[in-house]
Amino acid sequence: MNHIAKLAIIIPCFNEEEVFPQSLKTLIALRQKLIKKNLIAPASELVFVNDGSKDATWQLIEKAHKKSAFVNGICLSRNFGHQEALLAGLYNTTADIYVTIDADLQDDPDVIEQMVESYYQGCEVVYGVRSRRNTDSFFKRNTALLFYKLMKILGVELVANHADFRLLSHRAVAAMQSFTEKNLFLRAIVPLIGFKSCNVYYERKKREAGTSKYPLKKMILFALKGISSFSAVPLHLITLSGVIISIISFFLMLWTIYAYTQGSTIVGWASLMSAITFFSGITILFMGIIGEYIASIFIEVKNRPTYIIEKKTSEQ
Ligand code: UDP
Ligand code: MG
Repeated sequence: MNHIAKLAIIIPCFNEEEVFPQSLKTLIALRQKLIKKNLIAPASELVFVNDGSKDATWQLIEKAHKKSAFVNGICLSRNFGHQEALLAGLYNTTADIYVTIDADLQDDPDVIEQMVESYYQGCEVVYGVRSRRNTDSFFKRNTALLFYKLMKILGVELVANHADFRLLSHRAVAAMQSFTEKNLFLRAIVPLIGFKSCNVYYERKKREAGTSKYPLKKMILFALKGISSFSAVPLHLITLSGVIISIISFFLMLWTIYAYTQGSTIVGWASLMSAITFFSGITILFMGIIGEYIASIFIEVKNRPTYIIEKKTSEQ
């Protein structure tokens, strides 16, 4: 290892005054330990992103910064949300490697050491993966599982049981910046960046203090955002059902005409049935075709990078 990397730990905080002092202490000690082991540079910092907290979180961050210069804060003008706060931290800090972790430290900060080691072994993205979710409620565990399954069916690549606890190299963050979409669902964007990646495993702990900032409503909205911003499959499904219903209605029409010729129908029934089946099939099919165009607009509008170069012969 010829160059010791500067690490920035990015911590989004939304009303975290209760858990902040404890988390700060733990992270300062961790930073100290990693510097001593020569794993990270002494310039390494902790960056707390205050996401529009209504409590004393920002005052605590400022106080911590006065005490130790390596503790830095970024204060957002209002509550933008977890994903947005993470990006604010990542894009406004200069470092060689970045680790993002929740303020409650439910994700074991001790595995950051393993993450950094993986970086030196050539990984540009290191995913923190929960080996067990037994501290989560039955409900949260199973809805999460269902969500990962659904996303897989919809063709979105996700690392199962990985949330937003991960290491990103400077290059990976730069690549992420070329994803200009506004609908943020980082855990689905990161696998699209490419580069060598690996997993480290840990057990998720209970929240030490304060309450979850992700109530059910936010969780559902987050899941919907994940689906609608990453998958056009629901739109393709409309086309598919349009085709199927059109075929069925065609046969239904033939059958009503046949029934009519047999004289076994009430006057007006056959023509009415034919019109209904014909037009419902056509309507859904046409909606599907419009959906296909919307799907392409959706892909274009996201303006994602068409490619990301990892290296060139001249740089080796
Ligand atoms: N968070 C944030 N903005 C929000 C909601 C949450 O920055 O609008 C932060 C929060 O402070 C924490 C992280 O996102 O650091 C995850 O939140 P939490 O631990 O409450 O979620 P849970 O672990 O219950 O899913
Ligand atoms: Mg939490």
